[in-house]
Amino acid sequence: MRRRTGIPMATVLRKLEKIYHPPKTFLHYRTPLDLLVAVILSAQCTDKRVNIVTEKILYPKYRTVKDYLRVPVEQLEEDIHSCGTYRMKAKSIRGMCAMLLEKHRGQVPDTMEELLELPGVGRKTASVILSAVFNKNLGIAVDTHVQRLAQRLGLSSHHNPNKIELDLMQAAPLRRWRDVTVLLISHGRAVCTARNRNCGACVFATQCPSSLVLGRKDMAKPKKSMRRRT
Ligand code: SF4
Repeated sequence: MRRRTGIPMATVLRKLEKIYHPPKTFLHYRTPLDLLVAVILSAQCTDKRVNIVTEKILYPKYRTVKDYLRVPVEQLEEDIHSCGTYRMKAKSIRGMCAMLLEKHRGQVPDTMEELLELPGVGRKTASVILSAVFNKNLGIAVDTHVQRLAQRLGLSSHHNPNKIELDLMQAAPLRRWRDVTVLLISHGRAVCTARNRNCGACVFATQCPSSLVLGRKDMAKPKKSMRRRT
């Protein structure tokens, strides 16, 4: 059977940036450390919930890596409890802060290699930090929205986030990598959600390989219990 072809990346970006303009980062932060912590908390949690926890509880209380290391781990667990998987996230945050203090004088490094050495930091987190904080496009952050949209739009036929990232990096010019993440997340939240493909209201309704308007099947397979560092 012939595979349905996807929509060209240039078309995807052109159409989405007309709707979601200017592209916005969703997590609120003041410093690079804030954003690192927020991205770690965002794993399996909504950005809305993370913003509530960071702005109301964490940011007034924790400013430097030493602040996160000074309190008992149980206190940090309690502070981030509502973000879910709080024990693992507290461990990652404290491990990350300890390494930042030991190897980087408490500062967040600006290379992919150094970021990936930090506990709890995977390619998605490192890519977000590099593009949002240091204006460096060294990767495309693939979260569940990006993963789903890339599959539904036919931008990638893979299910592994690292392979999807490679497909997206090949399809988009380097200067647009940050926009790819932000625009796909925006569309994944507003129109093409995990539970509901609102194809009747979608700008890709007549082109998309997963469009319900065209009577097509969802090209995004149900999520497997695949885990990777964020
Ligand atoms: S046409 Fe439907 S499946 Fe395709 S991107 Fe739009 S909402 Fe999603």
